[in-house]
Amino acid sequence: MKCNKTKPINDHLLRSWIRCRRKAWLEIYGDKQKKLWTAHSTLQLNHQIDCFHNLSQKSYGIGIKACEEGKNIVYGIRLKFPLINNRIIKGNLPIVKKTSGKSIWGNFSYQPVLARQGKKVTREHRLILSMTGLLINNLQKYQAQKGLILHKENEIIKVEKIRLTNNMNTELLESLLNLEKDIESKTPPPITSNRKKCTICSWRKDCDAIAIKEGYLSEVSGIGAKRVLLLNKIGINNIEELAQIKHYKLKEKLDKFGTQHGNISSQLILQSQSQSTNKAINLNPKKELNNLKKAKGLLIYDIESDPDIKHDFLHGFIRLPNNIYKEKNLNKIKYSPLLNLEKHTENFLWKRIKRKLNQHKGLPILHYGETEPISLIKLGLRQGASSHEIDAIKKRFIDIHLLIRECWCLPVRNYGLKSIAEFIGFEWEQSNTDGARALLWWRQWKESRRLNNIYSKNLNSIFKYNRDDCIATLMIAKWLIDQE
Ligand code: SF4
Repeated sequence: MKCNKTKPINDHLLRSWIRCRRKAWLEIYGDKQKKLWTAHSTLQLNHQIDCFHNLSQKSYGIGIKACEEGKNIVYGIRLKFPLINNRIIKGNLPIVKKTSGKSIWGNFSYQPVLARQGKKVTREHRLILSMTGLLINNLQKYQAQKGLILHKENEIIKVEKIRLTNNMNTELLESLLNLEKDIESKTPPPITSNRKKCTICSWRKDCDAIAIKEGYLSEVSGIGAKRVLLLNKIGINNIEELAQIKHYKLKEKLDKFGTQHGNISSQLILQSQSQSTNKAINLNPKKELNNLKKAKGLLIYDIESDPDIKHDFLHGFIRLPNNIYKEKNLNKIKYSPLLNLEKHTENFLWKRIKRKLNQHKGLPILHYGETEPISLIKLGLRQGASSHEIDAIKKRFIDIHLLIRECWCLPVRNYGLKSIAEFIGFEWEQSNTDGARALLWWRQWKESRRLNNIYSKNLNSIFKYNRDDCIATLMIAKWLIDQE
């Protein structure tokens, strides 16, 4: 592998590096054919366009010429400047906003602006703002005092002012130096131990394969970045070593860091044993699943949401008309997608859901994880459901995720619906789909609906995806009772 001493660092590379050092390295040297498409970058870009669009004013322009003309908003400035060690730093400033000050163009200056998703301002936002701040300072020969961060809250664009401090600039320069070291190395930095980050990363296929092959501790469900460090401290460096240690020894060692670590030592050992031998371990052989086995039929329920505006836009149900043992042909199972086009139309949605639940009164409602019951109960309460009604619905829920966790230790990296369904051999009809992709489809469909009468076909894709989520939940329930 040839190291790259000339590659300019840009905001995209810095962003990647802040998320994961390895990701930045792979962006330069990785085999691009191994990269997966993910919906996250498109969602992020669309969100940015929405936020910036909101900031737009009549007086705007593009590039440095617009700064010279003193436009209020300037888009698309591309800059190059050697911020560290004569290495060129390239900055793509999607938007800057005019403010007071004294720049080379007159009695005004520009401040950097960025859009963020997520609940709070993170290190990534601060450093990117600092970088764009330094680049614009260099151009206008005036120090921007503040940067703006835009984000959406319940469809309203909020603006936060962030002071651009010397501390931020120092942290940025240190980061750029470390990033430079990483990309000059011939070998990639290690796989991050915080594997949650990997779920939305386009390099995950490649990294997952390496982590599994080399028995990384972060592969074990229940072991995050902090626990990897603790285990390393007590001399456990891979899954094999964890699978072989005696429970009392591990507990004794982990207790020193807090009983919360010691208390899950047997769970960690069992999980690593299951993953290293690729075998399922039954934790609770006596558990009876009578409510599943004896039910005359079942409703299976799954929601799709837009988390940015806290909007559950699709409540999908499938109904199994017979006892789970009798159902042979899944293609004939009826799927009912209940759409909630706008947040303020949930009154109508609640009536439809209530009608569906009442039509099949005696049937348990299967779901995977806690999101569905929490959302449905909240919806009912907002719509004035009585406590009697709410209690009756609560009694019908059966959480298949909870049952799996109670009864089985499985050779999977996490206990999410996708991982467990994959373990039992279920495949989604549409490949490489996830909640983010469904959200992207939804937003695109809504946009097509707003713009004209020719709706995109995305709604069908969302229904297929949601239906498959319901069927996956059902198949896991079936697998659970088949193991008895
Ligand atoms: S998959 Fe994970 S380890 Fe690999 S580059 Fe992405 S975030 Fe880093």
